Amino acid sequence: MTMSENSVKVDGLKFVPYLTRERIDAEVKRVASEIHRDLKGKKPLFLCVLNGAVIFAADLLREVGIDDAKINFVRYASYEGTNSTGKVKEIMGLTEDIEGMDVVIVEDIVDTGLTASMMVADLKKRKPRSLRFATLLNKPESSKTGFMPDYVAFEIPPKFIIGYGLDLDGKARNLKDIYVIAED
Ligand code: IMP
Repeated sequence: MTMSENSVKVDGLKFVPYLTRERIDAEVKRVASEIHRDLKGKKPLFLCVLNGAVIFAADLLREVGIDDAKINFVRYASYEGTNSTGKVKEIMGLTEDIEGMDVVIVEDIVDTGLTASMMVADLKKRKPRSLRFATLLNKPESSKTGFMPDYVAFEIPPKFIIGYGLDLDGKARNLKDIYVIAED
């Protein structure tokens, strides 16, 4: 990754500034206050989806202002399925029993919505009392599932973005701002 004044290059692709740290902070605070409103007085469990949501989850959890909130982490293993849906994914690393708990999934981005809907279906089987879905970014025009997150920091057009946890081949997660792929 190389940074110049008004762009970032990753693997030969050029990205330009899109959402500043200040705008991200403001929307993370708004989402946090919505979660606070809905879950105050409860003991919510935030389930951060690794790796992309780690930066968002860290900021969100500290802004939610619920003393008894806890955080845990899940990851998805993907493999090629034998049926026509192609990619099937499987939850990994959920060591905690979530039965009867108020769970908030924290994801970086919803694109087609396939990951999100699979995740919700899988976690519902574990009988949480409630299950909500918070995402930093949502690309509604890319949706193939009609999946609607409960909390969204930003609705964005279907363009590839990096930074603030989002990567290109594992790179650029550490950028403080969000960048979009350049059109030219
Ligand atoms: P979905 O199952 O199509 O909704 O895909 C969700 C996953 O695709 C996210 O968790 C990301 O890993 C990846 N993804 C989708 N769009 C982007 C993007 O613009 N930048 C980086 N990763 C993305």
